[in-house]
Amino acid sequence: MIELDDIHVYYGDSYILQGVSLNVQAGEIVCLLGRNGAGKTTTMRGIMGYNPPARGRVVVDGRDIAGQPVFANVRRGLGFVPEDRRIFADLTVMENLAVAALPPRQGQTPWTEERIFEVFPLLVKLKNHKGGALSGGEQQMLSLARALMGNPRMLLLDEPCEGLAPIIVENIGAIITSLKADVAILLTEQNAHFALGIADRGYVIDKGRICYEGLARELAENEEVQQRYLAV
Ligand code: ATP
Repeated sequence: MIELDDIHVYYGDSYILQGVSLNVQAGEIVCLLGRNGAGKTTTMRGIMGYNPPARGRVVVDGRDIAGQPVFANVRRGLGFVPEDRRIFADLTVMENLAVAALPPRQGQTPWTEERIFEVFPLLVKLKNHKGGALSGGEQQMLSLARALMGNPRMLLLDEPCEGLAPIIVENIGAIITSLKADVAILLTEQNAHFALGIADRGYVIDKGRICYEGLARELAENEEVQQRYLAV
């Protein structure tokens, strides 16, 4: 589905991603774990094209998209839920959803507003509320729902549970799990417990390099890696 092959990303002169390779297959949830500042967000931004890799390939369905503009990557089937959610504060929930709608690809069950509200029942009563009036958890749900309206084949979720109450985290975890038959998911998290509870496989990033990869259940049992790289 997606393969990062040795990507290198800079912010100006700062050399941040120093050769990151990973892959996500259809039907999988894969997590990218790491401490604050390890390079998780930069990996997402590198894939999407906000900070294109200076070197390396981002292969989506056999085609290298590294360096392509963000809008082209969204049209090609990448959906992004950024850490700060980027809800349009002055638009209603319905309007936030409508602006993100893109036609489905061949073979996809399209995401309609009806289908969105089945998956996110919490948003139903908020349809006509402004985005800026929603709570953090509601905004996170809306950001996820809005990304789905683009009918993505691959979703990139950047720390979807940051700062949310445990009950909301549990709710969002169940929703993400329910999506994986439809859309491949790459998830970054500092909350290893949450991510490893829903992921099939995991990678650990430290100082811009992947330092561990394996099945989520193996990583969940690997205390040495968790203590060394995740500050658990
Ligand atoms: P967090 O959990 O804090 O989001 P992260 O693993 O996502 O951590 P990144 O945001 O990818 O980490 O940051 C990786 C490194 O890049 C950090 O050292 C950070 O200080 C640096 N960095 C991030 N954004 C910029 C920027 N706009 N300009 C310069 N350096 C940056």
